[in-house]
Amino acid sequence: MPPPASPVKSATLRIAVIGAGIIGLATALELRARGAEVVVYDSGTDLGAGATIRSAGMLGAAFEWAGEEDQRALAALARHAGMIWPDFAARVERLAGGGMEFSSEGALVVARTAGEVEWAEALAAACQARGLPVQRLTAAEMQRLEPALADDLHGGMLLPEDRHVDASLALQRLGAALSRQGVGIRLGRRIDRVTGGASFRLPDGDRFSRIVLATGAGALPEFVGPRGANLPHGLPASVPVKGQMLALAPASRAPRHVIHTRDVYIAPKARWTLVGATAERGRQDVEIDRKAIEDLRRRGAAVAPAIGTAAELTVWAGIRPGTPDDAPMIGQTAIPGVFAALGHFRNGVLLAPATAELVAEQAIDGKVSPLAAAFDPLRFDKNGD
Ligand SMILES: Cc1cc2nc3c(=O)[nH]c(=O)nc-3n(C[C@H](O)[C@H](O)[C@H](O)COP(=O)(O)OP(=O)(O)OC[C@H]3O[C@@H](n4cnc5c(N)ncnc54)[C@H](O)[C@@H]3O)c2cc1C
Repeated sequence: MPPPASPVKSATLRIAVIGAGIIGLATALELRARGAEVVVYDSGTDLGAGATIRSAGMLGAAFEWAGEEDQRALAALARHAGMIWPDFAARVERLAGGGMEFSSEGALVVARTAGEVEWAEALAAACQARGLPVQRLTAAEMQRLEPALADDLHGGMLLPEDRHVDASLALQRLGAALSRQGVGIRLGRRIDRVTGGASFRLPDGDRFSRIVLATGAGALPEFVGPRGANLPHGLPASVPVKGQMLALAPASRAPRHVIHTRDVYIAPKARWTLVGATAERGRQDVEIDRKAIEDLRRRGAAVAPAIGTAAELTVWAGIRPGTPDDAPMIGQTAIPGVFAALGHFRNGVLLAPATAELVAEQAIDGKVSPLAAAFDPLRFDKNGD
């Protein structure tokens, strides 16, 4: 692993962030807040070319990791992210002058069958073991809280700290906040090559002292030295995981809460109700499979009947940026001064403000927080030291 970046007076730093998804934009905001001059590049001609606006915007700090014993570091990062999200949302909304539908209603976990009661109970116990608040509910209590639920359910729980946002709005608000903070966002600029040396030069000729890679499931640029020799960064290629999603008109009996069952989730937004999602590892096409979409609707209708009849507004597929061990890569790469903010798989929206903090600490202060240690981007690099 290269030595941590030495602390530098942040006012002297010019940092390029490559990728304007939620990870790149949240990181740019944090770097700017710490005094760096920041420019964001994205190949898309609009914000939202990647996974972020195709996501459900759930901030599942408890649901996603309660039962994952082998992902303790990720659970801790998720918990931290869940805790800082309310302040992050408020700060972005204030800077942007508009909201992102941040909701603190909590998420419901529903057992549809007697067999699923055991699954839900294991999840509740795991949450409690991690100090995460859980409110166990009978079927009647759940229906009182969420009248959209079917009346033949077997109980479940409320996870009060699992919040959600409209991820597309979050991205737009971040873009506005950054512009008002003097961060340049250069759209329509694919970065295929970065030339290293005393500073890093991008294809438009601009020079930077640090580079942050936030390209999601996109291909990484190649890095070359001043004489054209390849500079290895030590990062694996992204592992794509396709997710298909159904967006329904928000019927009057549509759910107000995020609802999880074992094989589907429902995520309500003001303009639509999302029902998702497939998880197709290794797939990076965005073709829609109508049978998969109808399966999502059928599963959603089993828990909230209005899902069965609501009008379909649209469907889409997005590509989650996975890694070989399903944990993100956050920190300095094998090229000193080049940092990864990559591989956020199915939780990039949740993890964005926490990743932003960890990258800024390393890129500006030269500090590696204990929370970041498990996400060393070089953990897959067999040639690294
Ligand atoms: C169906 C679905 C549902 C999801 N639901 C949730 C959820 O509820 N909660 C949650 O937390 N997460 C969810 N996710 C995961 C989440 O969307 C991702 O983890 C997150 O969006 C990753 O953000 P990112 O900024 O890393 O990537 P992206 O949003 O993909 O952004 C990467 C950007 O980099 C740009 N780019 C790539 N290569 C280059 C290059 N060489 N030069 C310039 N620009 C480049 C792309 O154009 C893109 O705009 C979901 C994902 C899917 C597909």
